Amino acid sequence: MTKQNHIGWNFKNSYAQLPEKMFAKQMPTAVPNPKMVCFNDELAKTLGLDFSAISEDNKAQLFSGNLLPIGAEPIAQAYAGHQFGHFTMLGDGRAILLGEHLSPNNKLFDIQLKGSGQTPYSRRGDGKATLRSMLREFLISEAMHHLGVPTSRSLAVVNTGEKVYREEVHEGAVLARVMSSHIRVGTFEYISNFLDVTTLQGFTNYVIKRHYPELTKNANPALALLKTVMNKQIDLVINWLRIGFIHGVMNTDNMSITGETFDYGPCAFMNNYHPDTVFSSIDVQGRYAFGQQPGIVQWNLVCLAEALIPLIDKDADKAVKMAQEVINSFPAIYKEKWWQMNGIKLGFTSVAENEKQLIEDLLTWMQNNQADYTNTYLAIANYYQQTDEKYITPDFAQWYQRWEDILKANNISLSSALKTMQQHNPEFIPRNHLVEKSLDNACLQQNFTLFNELLKTSKAPYQAQSSYKHLQTPPPDGDKGYKTFCGT
Ligand code: AMP
Ligand code: MG
Repeated sequence: MTKQNHIGWNFKNSYAQLPEKMFAKQMPTAVPNPKMVCFNDELAKTLGLDFSAISEDNKAQLFSGNLLPIGAEPIAQAYAGHQFGHFTMLGDGRAILLGEHLSPNNKLFDIQLKGSGQTPYSRRGDGKATLRSMLREFLISEAMHHLGVPTSRSLAVVNTGEKVYREEVHEGAVLARVMSSHIRVGTFEYISNFLDVTTLQGFTNYVIKRHYPELTKNANPALALLKTVMNKQIDLVINWLRIGFIHGVMNTDNMSITGETFDYGPCAFMNNYHPDTVFSSIDVQGRYAFGQQPGIVQWNLVCLAEALIPLIDKDADKAVKMAQEVINSFPAIYKEKWWQMNGIKLGFTSVAENEKQLIEDLLTWMQNNQADYTNTYLAIANYYQQTDEKYITPDFAQWYQRWEDILKANNISLSSALKTMQQHNPEFIPRNHLVEKSLDNACLQQNFTLFNELLKTSKAPYQAQSSYKHLQTPPPDGDKGYKTFCGT
């Protein structure tokens, strides 16, 4: 037995107190030979957890699920969801919630093991995850966090010592995922479709109390919840668009009620700017393409609204009208925030007609010239030092001159614009080709050099670092043929 008392676990398991149809009690499946692969010291610290007195072996036992943390009450959560538009019963098929840990600053965090074996919701799946995809999630979720995007985080990756069979044989792994909760739009859809209104009311009260206590006193808490989740999701998708992130599988079961990014299966970053960019192997229609994401968020919110109808008003027609009014406000709120975000990327403090035209022209220019989304903003900021011939063309020079003129007309000095830009335009994103190469090196050759470099630069993504220039270069073929996968 380990001396777990020193770790600082402080489990308060509220989800396990909910009605029994909301989850299934489920122990993680034991794994044969767990070995620590990654551990997030910084995150452990913010959670108030101290593993310094724990051996690596015991840590691996803990984060593989072979040993339970003190106070854990493992469950698999029930949920449903619209996957590519089709409603299905789902649930944690390969994840187990150990419980909710209360951190020293009084915040509750789900501690979840992903890849820890079958549950009653596994359907035909094996309940497992590959080392490669758990390392990918570790790297990208940490990068997202440091890019300033709300997200689930990764505490640990353990190699289970087991083989996992996908198209090829893989090493198996378990990821310890930390998130303010795993409650999704699909959780509401599950209750609305399969349980009763009393449960829906009780659960909605629970969600409001847990995540949005300020809404408790609202005259119509369910409607206020819808509005609040909408605003959180708008902010989230704006952040994704700011940094070129493509989630890849924005089904309603992968959209969190707290506005955090999660489920990192088929996600990717856009290199060359094009709104139709899509990498997920199963997304043949481009439903979740880069530029489709705001529309999909709105679509998913309609599913949330439908689930909440009985709580919004006893009169269903009236409730629908009220919910519709909220949903109808989406496009205008979104668009305004989108202009603001694009303005900030160019150092503007406000956006009027001239700025809008300039923004649109830049996006069109990038699209027509296969320009890298991240590097173009860096090129604007370093215009006079440019060596990349893409940015030394007359049409780009003309655009640049207009930008300088509009800054001047706004009384914004170049240095102050550059300062704003530097805070919102990353130097480093986890480039797809580098992520995949780092995973090849790590999983096939046990060489973590590139993986660790990517992790290191991702911790300060807005800071130029001359020794890591090689991590800023897009692939020469512009991601041609690159594909990402779910469920690996
Ligand atoms: P995702 O695409 O990760 O959002 O997963 C969709 C659904 O499939 C969820 O219910 C998952 O728990 C389930 N799932 C994905 N992979 C597996 C697996 N290997 N074994 C069991 N269930 C899985
Ligand atoms: Mg999912």
